[in-house]
Amino acid sequence: MDKEKSFKKLKVGILGATGTVGQKFIVLLQNHPWFEISALAASKESAGKTYEEAVKGRWKQEVDIPESIRGIVIQDASKPNLKCDFVFSGLDAGVAGEIEKAFAAAGYGVISNTKNYRTEQDVPLMVPEVNPDHASIIPFQQKRRKWTGFIVTNPNCVVVPLVMALKPVMDKFGVSKIMLTSMQAISGAGYPGVPSLDILDNVIPMIGGEEPKVEWEPLKLLGDVKKDGFKLANIKISAQCNRVPTKDGHFLTVAFSTRKPAKVGEIKRLIKNFKGEPQKMKLPSAPQKPLFYHEDEYRPQTRLDRDREGGMSVSVGRLREDAVLDFKMVVLGHNTIRGAAGAAILNAELLHKKGYLKAR
Ligand code: NAP
Repeated sequence: MDKEKSFKKLKVGILGATGTVGQKFIVLLQNHPWFEISALAASKESAGKTYEEAVKGRWKQEVDIPESIRGIVIQDASKPNLKCDFVFSGLDAGVAGEIEKAFAAAGYGVISNTKNYRTEQDVPLMVPEVNPDHASIIPFQQKRRKWTGFIVTNPNCVVVPLVMALKPVMDKFGVSKIMLTSMQAISGAGYPGVPSLDILDNVIPMIGGEEPKVEWEPLKLLGDVKKDGFKLANIKISAQCNRVPTKDGHFLTVAFSTRKPAKVGEIKRLIKNFKGEPQKMKLPSAPQKPLFYHEDEYRPQTRLDRDREGGMSVSVGRLREDAVLDFKMVVLGHNTIRGAAGAAILNAELLHKKGYLKAR
């Protein structure tokens, strides 16, 4: 009996279950060894419909809607009373602030994709391979806000592959400056997203609000956690973000300077051998190789490499010296998996293993 009890899966609710990220949560959580979906929520327009009815014509995944999900009746996300142990949030950022707060106050752990709480002084902005220690701020958050639940966020979908690729360099040599150009997939804009007449045969040199996030979030992620806040890393970052006509996968060209002298071969070795806490803990969604280095200088390529290890492994290639900063390289990450739903699921696995997420 006790043994059976210890294998009981945690029940999960998904806020924003009908959207691009919400759909990815549903696909990635099928057959998860620790978590099972028990509730789905979205806007008032979707509430009361079965999931199948609500996403009619806008289910955009390459697999069918899972049988166990089709008939679930969607609830109104503005009411924090879902039958589950914790929630993932893929809510529209315009409404996520109030809704996520209400869930945290009502005792739910909220594992969020949205930008609303990322810059808060008491909310972890986490990539488990990069800063798993930042979870230690949770008790301070709960005390300060008088919440029995909590909010943990994952970063913007460009920032995830960027900080993962730079983490081993940062640990060994320090990083002082970063300049990057992003080529971001259409799915990053949600559904229906960028109109086809804008993006076909085109590159759009502006993604509203993106560059400030890409220039700030790495400072928190690569910084230190204190008892009552975070100390930002001392790095100068300049980002230029572009929308390109790929479906999934954010492709970055990144130049950077190190604080201590380094050699191309040393950095390559660090990237190839990099492992973080999820790999050491053997978390279910952790890729074997969080960073995959491509020796073929025609790789990584968006279409060929975005799905490596189920979209959870970040590809790096073309590391070489740079005449302006010290080094340059290309980096590729799957935006809706490693940059969104998969990132949140890995955060939840880490938080469960560390004892922060339990049955309610
Ligand atoms: P999306 O496709 O537009 O989906 C938005 C979701 O929010 C839908 O489920 C929608 O429900 C729900 N929603 C909208 N208004 C609501 C309201 N008033 N009350 C309750 N629910 C409401 O967006 P997305 O691309 O999945 O992005 C979701 C969040 O993740 C955003 O904050 C985004 O910035 C972030 N994010 C996205 C990506 C990406 O690659 N797409 C990556 C990282 C982070 P209805 O269907 O009922 O309207």
